[in-house]
Amino acid sequence: MTKFSEQFSRRKFIVTAGASAVSSILLKGCLGNPPEPGATAGADGEIPAATSVVAVANEKRVEGIESTKITLGYIPIVEAASLIIAQEKGFFAKYGMTEVTIAKQANWGSARDNVEIGSAGGGIDGGQWQMPMPYLISKGLITKNSIQIPMYVLAQLNTQGNGIAIAAKHQGKGLGLKLDQAAQDYIKGLKQAGTPFKAAYTFPKVNQDLWIRYWLAANGINPDADVELLTVPAAQTVANMKTGSMDGFSTGDPWPLRIVKEKIGFMAALTAEIWKAHPEEYLAIRGDWVDKHPKATEALLAGLIEAQQWCDKPENRAELVAIVSGKSFFDVPAQVLTPPYAGKYAMGDGKPDISDFKMGPLYWKDDIGNVSYPYKSHDLWFITESVRWGFLPTKTLSDKKTLIDKVNRADIWKKAAKLAGVADTDIPKSTSRGPEKFFDGIEFNPENPEAYLKSLAIKKV
Ligand code: CA
Repeated sequence: MTKFSEQFSRRKFIVTAGASAVSSILLKGCLGNPPEPGATAGADGEIPAATSVVAVANEKRVEGIESTKITLGYIPIVEAASLIIAQEKGFFAKYGMTEVTIAKQANWGSARDNVEIGSAGGGIDGGQWQMPMPYLISKGLITKNSIQIPMYVLAQLNTQGNGIAIAAKHQGKGLGLKLDQAAQDYIKGLKQAGTPFKAAYTFPKVNQDLWIRYWLAANGINPDADVELLTVPAAQTVANMKTGSMDGFSTGDPWPLRIVKEKIGFMAALTAEIWKAHPEEYLAIRGDWVDKHPKATEALLAGLIEAQQWCDKPENRAELVAIVSGKSFFDVPAQVLTPPYAGKYAMGDGKPDISDFKMGPLYWKDDIGNVSYPYKSHDLWFITESVRWGFLPTKTLSDKKTLIDKVNRADIWKKAAKLAGVADTDIPKSTSRGPEKFFDGIEFNPENPEAYLKSLAIKKV
């Protein structure tokens, strides 16, 4: 059978197998990423997917390409969709990147370990990252023996598609986007009662940690004093939420749907409500690979850009779901991905449902403009927020320009966009998206990150 017919017959099986089978598949699928039966695990137990060579019409093969091969890691969540689509729909191959391997990573830690090894050692050359992981790897802050591995941020993979989930036992306490005094007192009271509100993320000091911290602090809760934040594997977090030992979870689609549908909990907020069109995850590749393969990098990026455009056409979303939900990729029932890909979210706890395509994960254009272009102003927000919580020293801000110019290669993105035939009007003119607005009225002006830090009531710095 072809990949496609396999996926369709599998979907049919899941639909007919009934709700309990769906639940058990959900329990072991998604972010838990258990090894697939018969899969050969590589370094740290990740499962490299096969390299598929796809024949494409309208070839725009790049002349003088230095390599047709690259290995990119991904985590099976909506953020990875455009990488998978670029591979499966032949957009990488169209530009001459005919031997791209998309390798599923067991977790963020193994993605980091694998990029440290590089593909020559059986690892990966780059792939999908939460921010500011490429910076932390470049500076040797999260690598083994603090080895500095220069990374280049080349494109943003998506915006939005994440949220704050809360355990069902906290229903009826007013835990939503905004917390009134009673809701704040309720959370703080849990600590005083010796049962502090425990919230989890899957990797510390990056997106999920930053989203939950932003939401708490904007609502008068000090994330370092009033609650307990910790790193927990996603599957375990949901299990813990079920048994009542975990209170919150900063998570990406398709978890929100599952949490609400299975009555494990409810959504306090979508990240799109916290910060509309916020930056989410990125494509970054080892700098040594990019420097050695400049044309291949442009070809790869051009393929990704076309895939991102494809992903955002509403008429392609059903096919997107059919592909990414498949066994080789996310390995989840298609029906858990269909609603978020249509911007449909049941929030639970009496909150109205959300139904707006522009509130779901977006890959090419959001309400503000281009999604794929890696704005340096967004990298600066992640760095500033890291300073806010003491994850990076304050002095990081004094050489912000040198640091960001070294890691963020928006210049390469622009060349690739031209190659992909992107209209000039769709190519951002500035490396800054300008001032950003958050739900609590706070503004981040990239011209003055210090003023942003000053404006925040709760911070560590
Ligand atoms: Ca995410």
